[in-house]
Amino acid sequence: MSTQRSDTAGLPPAPEVVQIEVGLLQNFCEILYCPDTREAAIVDPAWEVDRLLREVERLRLRVTTALITHTHNDHIEGVDALVRQTGAAVVVHPREADRVRAAARTSTLVDAIDGQDLAIGRRGVRALETPGHTVGGTCYLADGYVITGDVLFVGGCGRTDFAGGDTAQMWNSLQRLARLPEETRVYPGHNYGDTETSTIAHELRENRFLRCASLDEFRLLRERKRA
Ligand SMILES: [Zn+2]
Ligand SMILES: [Zn+2]
Repeated sequence: MSTQRSDTAGLPPAPEVVQIEVGLLQNFCEILYCPDTREAAIVDPAWEVDRLLREVERLRLRVTTALITHTHNDHIEGVDALVRQTGAAVVVHPREADRVRAAARTSTLVDAIDGQDLAIGRRGVRALETPGHTVGGTCYLADGYVITGDVLFVGGCGRTDFAGGDTAQMWNSLQRLARLPEETRVYPGHNYGDTETSTIAHELRENRFLRCASLDEFRLLRERKRA
């Protein structure tokens, strides 16, 4: 239980969140913003940066930050365009920083360190290191919701058979998310489920990957199913 306490203790006030589906792979981006200062972060900018920036403009926001859950191309395809147009600093786990540097040479990188709070105006989120889909997979926890990238989907979880994937690490990462308060809203990296968001409580009941009783059971299920 100490893990739950440390993951949520003293979280800053949560940014407002706007979820936007982009591209042809059902990717979700989020705009997180402080309603007081109008500073904003964009999670996993890709495919439709112009559309994301039109929404930013409509909400009268200023993008200061890009938050990267992991560096598969469908999540970072728009980092270069976003950085060029906004000068946003890019938060990414150090184990995947090279991939951002290759994709967006002019970017200023900030390390996503486990447990560290990242300010968005007077609001903020906390980086949670959640490897398993990739080596530096990171979720971003706010007070009341969590951005889960390709770790946890509504009714599913990310694959572990790509380069850098690891089924045992994925199991540990999912267990960590499962210990978050049950009412925590889940914002996944893709629109693969029956609904666009969910809650930890719902996933504990309905997600067969979270319902596994052991790593062995999870391994059988995860490594058999390729979707
Ligand atoms: Zn991925
Ligand atoms: Zn993805």
